[in-house]
Amino acid sequence: MSSRSILIVEDEPAIREMVGFALSQAGFESIEAGDAAQARKRIAERPPDLVLLDWMLPGMSGIELARYLRKNDATRKLPLIMLTARSEEADKLKGLEIGADDYVTKPFSPRELVARINAVLRRAAPAANDETISSGGISLDPTGHRVTAGDTNLEMGPTEFRLLHFFMTHAERVYSRSQLLDQVWGSHVYVEERTVDVHIRRLRKALSLSGHDRFVQTVRGSGYRFSTQV
Ligand code: CA
Repeated sequence: MSSRSILIVEDEPAIREMVGFALSQAGFESIEAGDAAQARKRIAERPPDLVLLDWMLPGMSGIELARYLRKNDATRKLPLIMLTARSEEADKLKGLEIGADDYVTKPFSPRELVARINAVLRRAAPAANDETISSGGISLDPTGHRVTAGDTNLEMGPTEFRLLHFFMTHAERVYSRSQLLDQVWGSHVYVEERTVDVHIRRLRKALSLSGHDRFVQTVRGSGYRFSTQV
């Protein structure tokens, strides 16, 4: 199997090198570009599996390049993670608005970056809804409706099962209660937001049998995240 390729668009050679090294350690092939023009050339030559795009670039900015990629049919669905030194909420929203799949603030650890890349690539993969998903020692089998941790069977209700399924296919990202309601319960259903807390509690209880409840994390003021990076 050929390794997946990641295009790093970053004008600072030291960061490009650090990221390139982390990617190759994680088994990815890294391709580098120092500005938007080079990036467009690399993408035209051979589309990568994902683009890491720095916000601040000389010439055409990262945001402009992201817009350009989203406007073109050939690159519309190319997974895209913005890298930035800015941490303001407004900028983050702007990045996500133009269609970035995720947003990583500098300074970041290579480990965190690789985890985010893997999460975005998993989301971008064609949905194979009946495929068993494994993450951090938990296996979820959508067909058999079973969750296991090693030999331990983790019993849970259908809502907890759907919630866990969503979390495992959307790991390392924070979701608000209302986003979870839309994604797991469906936007047509009227449920109070605190219902989410009830099911999170039940899910944690089910997972605590194998000590995996720590993967379901509360992010104060924002919502919940499933992360195996603990
Ligand atoms: Ca830069």
